[in-house]
Parts: sequence; C-alpha cells; structure tokens
Amino acid sequence: MKLESFVRGQWVSPGCDAVDIHSAVTGDVVAQLQSGGLDMREILVYARATGGASLRRLTFHQRADMLKRLGQYLTERKDQLYKLSLQTGATRTDSMIDVDGGIGTLFVYASKGRRELPNAKFLLDGMVEPLSKGGTFSGQHIMAPMHGVGVHINAFNFPCWGMLEKLATALLAGVPVVTKPATITSYVAYALARMIAESGILPGGAFQFVVGSAGDLFDHLTCQDVVSFTGSAETSEKLQRHPVIAREAVRFIAERDSLNAAILAPDASPGTPEFDLFIKEVAKEMTVKAGQKCTAIRRALAPSVHVDAVISALRERLAKVAIGNPALEAVRMGPLVGLDQRRDVLSHVAKLRSEAELVSGDPDNFPVQGADARRGAFVPPLLLHCADPFRAANVHAIEAFGPVSTVMGYSNLDEATTLADRGGGSLVASVYTHDPRTAADLVFGINSFHGRIVIIDRDCAKEQTGHGSPMPQMMHGGPGRAGGGEELGGMRSLHHYMQRTALQGSPKMLTAVTGSWSQGSPTIEKDRHPFRFHFEDLDIGQTFLSRQRTITLEDVEHFAHFTGDTFYAHMDEEATKGHPFFPGRVAHGYLLLSFAAGLFVDPDPGPVLANYGLDTLRFVKPVQPGEAIKVRLTAKEKLPRNKQYGEVRWDVEILTGKNETAATYELLTMNAVRPAP
Ligand code: NAP
Repeated sequence: MKLESFVRGQWVSPGCDAVDIHSAVTGDVVAQLQSGGLDMREILVYARATGGASLRRLTFHQRADMLKRLGQYLTERKDQLYKLSLQTGATRTDSMIDVDGGIGTLFVYASKGRRELPNAKFLLDGMVEPLSKGGTFSGQHIMAPMHGVGVHINAFNFPCWGMLEKLATALLAGVPVVTKPATITSYVAYALARMIAESGILPGGAFQFVVGSAGDLFDHLTCQDVVSFTGSAETSEKLQRHPVIAREAVRFIAERDSLNAAILAPDASPGTPEFDLFIKEVAKEMTVKAGQKCTAIRRALAPSVHVDAVISALRERLAKVAIGNPALEAVRMGPLVGLDQRRDVLSHVAKLRSEAELVSGDPDNFPVQGADARRGAFVPPLLLHCADPFRAANVHAIEAFGPVSTVMGYSNLDEATTLADRGGGSLVASVYTHDPRTAADLVFGINSFHGRIVIIDRDCAKEQTGHGSPMPQMMHGGPGRAGGGEELGGMRSLHHYMQRTALQGSPKMLTAVTGSWSQGSPTIEKDRHPFRFHFEDLDIGQTFLSRQRTITLEDVEHFAHFTGDTFYAHMDEEATKGHPFFPGRVAHGYLLLSFAAGLFVDPDPGPVLANYGLDTLRFVKPVQPGEAIKVRLTAKEKLPRNKQYGEVRWDVEILTGKNETAATYELLTMNAVRPAP
C-alpha cells in the first residue's frame, strides 16, 4: 500500500524519504510512504481561501447535514477500515471504538448541530447588555468562524476516531481542516481519508490530508489557525514552543498522555457490586487496545485493607485474557502497535518496578495465539503493586502506554484524593462507590485535577459508558499533564474554532448587524397583525400591541379551580400577609401567560403554523385582581428551516395598565414560507 497525501484537491506523493510501516502482528511491511516534499504554505492558503470561504457560506444546519451524509457514506464502507486495523493490532472491539466511535461522533454532531444551533452562520453569545442610562448604547457578544485552518495532529492509537472527532467540530464551526495522522497507523487513516475525499460531500479545500512529516507547516500558521494536537506530552511541549505559536498567539489545543486513576471507595468492599465493577473496569482498561489509550487506568487506588483482594481478583481476571493475532475470534488482546512501542513500554515498566512489584503477568513468558511472539509486538497485561505510593514518584509520572497498571493503597479519602491528584492533571478518574457523600467528597477533592469523573455503581452498572470512553456530548481533556485542552463536550468544542467578539453600538445598529431585535431598537407597525405575514415577508422589529384586559377575582378563582392550582397566594388574602413578594392575592403567572396568548393571538388560519415553546420566561411583577394587562409582541429573530417553514422568535412583554413590566419571555413559532405563485 503506497500512501499519498490529499492536498489542494489531489492525491500526491512528492517526498523522497521512503518510510516503511510494519504490521504490529507479523512485523511485515504493510505500507510505505514518501515523507516530505509538500508545500505547506500553499496547503494552508488553499484551505483558508477555498475551504474556509465555502464553509462560511453554509449555515450550521447545512454543515450538520454534511456531517450526517459523511457519516452515512463511511458507515457503508467501514468494513475496509476494520480489515486494515487488524494490522495495527486492533481486535474487533478495539476497532469498534475507533471506527464506529469516530463515525458515531459525526452523527452526534450532525444531530446536535441541527437541534442546538440556529440555522445561521454565526452565534449570538448571551443576552444584550445595556451599557447606557438612556438606552442608546448596548453590547452583544457574537461568535463567528475563524478565517483560518484547523491543523489536526493525531496520535497513533485511534487513527479513525482521532481524525473524525476533530473534523466534526471544526467543520460544523465552519473551519477547514488539514489533518496529519501518526505515521505508524497512517495506512488506516489514509483509507479513511480516501473515503472522505471520494465521497465528494465536503466542499473543495475543507479537508486535506498530510501523511508523514509535517515539514515546515508550523512556520506558516497565523492567528486565525487552530492547532489541535493529540499525542505525547513530549511532542506537545516541543510543538507548543514553536516560535510562531507564541508570536501569532495561535490557539493550541493539547490532548496529551495522563496517569488516570480509578478509586475504589471504602464502602465498596469485596462482595459489593461496586468492588466487582472496579475489577472489571481496571481489567478492561488494561486490555482494550492493549492498554494504548490515553484514558486507560494507570493507577488503581484501593483502601489498604482491600489491596490484597483487589490484586487477587485482577490476577484471576487478567489470566483469562487470550493474547494473540486479533484476526482470531478467541483473542481478546492484540499486540502493541509496533516493536518500538513494545521497547518503550517495557523500559517504562522497568522504571516502575523500581518502586512497585510486578504481581501479575510475565513479559518474558506468556502464550500468544496465532502469531509469532518474536515478530509481533506482544506484551501481556502487567499489574504492579506499589506499597508506598506517597514516597514513590515514577508510578505517578511515567505513562507505560500499554497493558500496564499499578495498584496502590490508601487509608482515608484525603489520602485517596492526594494520590489521584499526584498524576499532575488527568483526563479522567473513575470512582466506585454507592455512597453519595463519599462520591461528593471525592469529586470535589479531585475535580480541579481531572477533566472527567465517572461515578460507577450498581445503579448505572449496565448502561454506564466506561471509564475510558470519551463521549461526544461530554468534554474530553484535562488540566496540567493531560495538556490543558478541551475537546468534544457537545457544542462547547466549536468555540475553539470561532472568535468571540464583543459588539457595541446603538440597539438599532446591533439589530441591523446581528439580525436580532433587542429592546430600545426601533419597532415597525404595519396595518396587519404580524401573524398574517409569511416567513420571508415578516420584518425583524415588526410589532403588535394588544388591547387591555382587566383581571378579576373571578378570573383568578376560575383559573385556580379549572387547573387545580389553588396555591395560597392566589386564594387566601390572609395567608399572604407579610409575604416578601406578594402584596395580597395575586394572579397565577400561568394565567397571565394564558391571557397574554388570548390577547396577542390572531386566531384565523394563516402563516403561523405552530407555537413550539417559550424561552427565558421571567415573572417580574405580581399582578393583583383588578389590575389590567396588555401585551407587546415583537418579531425578534427569523431562522430559515426548510422550503416549507422557518422559525420565528418573538420578544413578548406583558405590561400592566400602568406600563410596568409584569413578565417577559421569548415565544417560538413556526411560520410558513410564502407559497410559490
Ligand atoms: P506522539 O509521538 O507524540 O505523536 C503524536 C503526533 O505528533 C503524531 O501524529 C506525530 O507524527 C506528530 N509529530 C511528532 N513530531 C512532530 C513534529 N515535530 N511536528 C508535527 N507533528 C509531529 O504520540 P503517539 O505515540 O502517536 O501517541 C501516543 C501518546 O498519545 C500517548 O502518550 C497517549 O497518552 C497520547 N494520547 C493522548 C490522547 C488524548 O486525547 N489526550 C489520545 C490518544 C493518545 P509522526 O507519527 O509522523 O511522528
């Protein structure tokens, strides 16, 4: 397999330094690439000018649709990726995490993008901030895509997931991508990149793929680019020190290695479901992907009195793990990615053994099924026990990126917290307890050192997604040693690729620029009710002021008995005496809303198809029987949805007869598009 780069819309291989890539299982050469020879400046220019410009012309919903179609296209072809992944040492389960996990991330972002983002090209961030007494000067934060490139550098262990999880967020945000896989598994990434390019789903320049060396790529970065790096702390530090990163203040997201902990709480003694879950999870994290997971459990913390029980349960479980050629169905753990990686892992284990005793697994003697143990990069699960973790240093600092974990004891929760935090910042910790108070103590003891904390107990045992699985909905990343980065976490990750700008001006100007009407901006009155206008004919700022309606005591009593809401503040004058909020009996807030609808609705069939919700509802001032209310309805925002209808957001203000604000909210309707003539 000859690997090429996909740059400026073409597959090329201009380099002259040939690199052979070997199978993790047999040691045979499985792929070759020519590293170097690419004009990195041109690649970045092409991405910015062609890919960026095309993506920014699309709305979030259009980009989300693109991700969905890409996910479907890849799903139909994923078997090819599974087959290739076998050579990296991945079992079928390992490949599911990589391939299906990666494609699943595209689907999650496609669906969240459609549901949670507006069908717009930029985001409003927060509310309008009044900045003047007279109301003529206000502020609004906006977020719009950077005019640069997402430069994605991935680690070897998840060639598909790593590429796709980064791609999904950058593309949804509207930023093109140049992605560079780790060389040793780049043949899997290459097959995926071929599919992405051949799908024709992404606009030209939105996706480029560079195999082999990154060359002088970093020399050409600007303040508009975003580097998202996954790999070792060593490489990350080197890249972050690149002078252009500092000079241009290039955003740099780092996802690095980490010494993640699993904490067995004192209540989870042997015989409890939580003890069993702890054992299962530690063993799983040691063996899935042969322990080559940034989120794997490197340190298993247990109450000192249970350390022996933990070791013997893990020993029993790990002894059952069949190691060998991942193509065999019986095999549960494949080899490491290559012989260099095995050398690294064993040398790290040797350093760990200066502080910890090897209590399970023998690196020199273990059975291997269906492969030559000398040619493949096989290592058995290696469990260590550190008897004095407070004096030890290596067990908290050295990441043996393989099936390696160290058990250590603690005597109280403070000690458990101290040990967990000795990792110096980790991606994840898992806590095994059925006691909420213990869980809370541990969570707030360790959270500032951890990006994610999973509490595992009998209640969630069947459905919990695992210590080691980053979920697209939840943040992935961690402080300190883990790199300080944040990826995924739903829409949060889009912010890396967008510039937040504080926009200040008159309300009229802000409305014109953002397309979102705010208080103080001019309103437009027309001869017909705004509900009589089709989506494209309705103007932002178009308003309607209703007639007045007086609320009577009978109204309040009728509403109370009709709905069953006989809360004392609506029914009992005596009971409201001395009340901090109510001057006497008051109308129900929901009565105000219901009457408001009766006042502003234009009842005949027309362009308004449905009311589908309220946002930001606040009851500002109580209204008493005998007082009047009226409603002002103003078209605030319009977001196209499809050819039949669009979404309209209305600013609604319920006023008293004395023009005091009684309640405010935003009403959402679906409005029909004008039918074609
Ligand atoms: P690595 O050696 O640091 O390499 C990571 C990436 O950096 C590779 O694509 C590598 O390319 C590239 N690279 C190396 N030198 C570079 C340079 N001068 N300029 C540009 N790119 C450069 O890490 P790895 O061995 O692939 O992955 C294992 C490590 O990654 C482990 O420590 C693991 O904990 C960590 N990891 C972290 C996460 C996370 O989300 N936090 C996830 C997975 C893995 P080449 O392969 O071509 O050298």
